[in-house]
Amino acid sequence: MSGNIWIVAEQWRGKLSEITFESLALGREVADGLGVKLQAVLLGHDVQSLSTSLGMADSVICVDHTELADPGASAQASALAQLVRQQKPRAVIVPLTNVSLGTGTLLGEQVGAPVVNFCKDLRAVDGQLVADCVLYGGKIEATVTPRGDLTVIGLWPGSRPPDKGRSDRNPPVETQAVTFADQPSVKLRSYIEPDASDVDITQQDVLVAVGRGIQSQENVALAEELAASLGGAVCGSRPVIDQGWLPLSRQVGKSGLNVKPKLYLALGISGAPEHLEGMKDAPLIVAVNSDPDAPIFNIAHYGVVADAMDMIPTLKETVLALRG
Ligand SMILES: Cc1cc2nc3c(=O)[nH]c(=O)nc-3n(C[C@H](O)[C@H](O)[C@H](O)COP(=O)(O)OP(=O)(O)OC[C@H]3O[C@@H](n4cnc5c(N)ncnc54)[C@H](O)[C@@H]3O)c2cc1C
Repeated sequence: MSGNIWIVAEQWRGKLSEITFESLALGREVADGLGVKLQAVLLGHDVQSLSTSLGMADSVICVDHTELADPGASAQASALAQLVRQQKPRAVIVPLTNVSLGTGTLLGEQVGAPVVNFCKDLRAVDGQLVADCVLYGGKIEATVTPRGDLTVIGLWPGSRPPDKGRSDRNPPVETQAVTFADQPSVKLRSYIEPDASDVDITQQDVLVAVGRGIQSQENVALAEELAASLGGAVCGSRPVIDQGWLPLSRQVGKSGLNVKPKLYLALGISGAPEHLEGMKDAPLIVAVNSDPDAPIFNIAHYGVVADAMDMIPTLKETVLALRG
C-alpha cells in the first residue's frame, strides 16, 4: 500500500484547470501532514506535456488513452479504479467541477471506498484525514473524519489560491496503461460554444448579477438600467437563466461562466457553492439580500440586508447623480 495522497489533475481540452492547482496546494499540505507523497494523476490523450506544470506533486502518474480524450465520468472512474487497485493510495482528491463531476462517486462505488463530497477543506490531524464539507447550498457545514484505508474526496473549487499550487519543478512521470472492457456508459457528443453575439460577461468591469430574489422578468429590466448607469452588464444565477429571463451566455457559475469584474453586485442571490464558483475571485463583491443569513454574505466585501427592489432605483439614481 502506497498510502499516498492523489489529486486528479483535471484538464479541459488540453489545458489544466485552475482547480488542479488548488488541489495541488491542498494535497501538498495534507501529504506533508501525513508524511506521505503527493501524486498527481493525469488522464487524457496526448496530454503528457502538461505534467511539467504539476511540479507541486512529488510525481505524476500519466495515463494516455483515446477513451480519455473527452471528459466523461465513467471512463475516468474506470481508469482511476484500475490505478487505485494497483497502487492503493490513502486518498484520491477529485474536483467537483462540470468536467469531473460524478467521477469521484463512481470511483468510490467501483473500489468500495467511502466518498466524502462537497469538501471545501481537508487536513491531516493526528494521522487522520478530516474534511470540512458544505451541504444544502452552503447552509450547513459538516466535519467528517473518514475511516478506512482509502477515501475519495470530492473537492469544491476555491479551497486554496491556485497560485499556491504552481511550481517550476519538473516532476518525474510514471506512465500507466489501462484497459476499457466496455464502452463508457456516458460519452460527450459535442461541445456547445457560447453565443458569441451577446455581451461577453467575462470581459466586463462591472456586473449586476440577479438571482431568484429578483422575482420577475420585469425586474430584470430594472437591473439592466442600473447596470447601464454603472457602465456594466447584467448577468444571473442559474434559476434566472432556466426561467428564460436572461440568455445562457449571461449565466455565472459552475454550469455557466467564470467572471472576475472589478465590481460584482449580487441582487437576490443566495450564494450557493455552484454560483460562488463562478464569481468568488471578483475583487469587490457587494451583495443585497433580504435574508441576513444568506451564504453570499460569507464572501461579500459589503453586504446590505434589504429588499433588492427597493435598492435598485435608489442605487441607479445615486449613481446617475454622482456621475452628473
Ligand atoms: C450541477 C449543478 C450546477 C449548477 N450550476 C449553477 C451555475 O452555474 N450557476 C448558478 O447560479 N447556480 C448553479 N446551480 C444551482 C445552485 O445550486 C443554486 O440553486 C442557485 O445558484 C440558486 O440561485 P439563486 O441564488 O438565484 O436562488 P435562491 O437560492 O433561491 O436564492 C434567492 C435569494 O434571494 C433572496 N431574496 C428573495 N427575495 C428577495 C428580495 N426581494 N430582495 C433581496 N433578496 C431576496 C433570498 O433570501 C435568497 O437568498 C447548479 C446546481 C447544480 C447541482
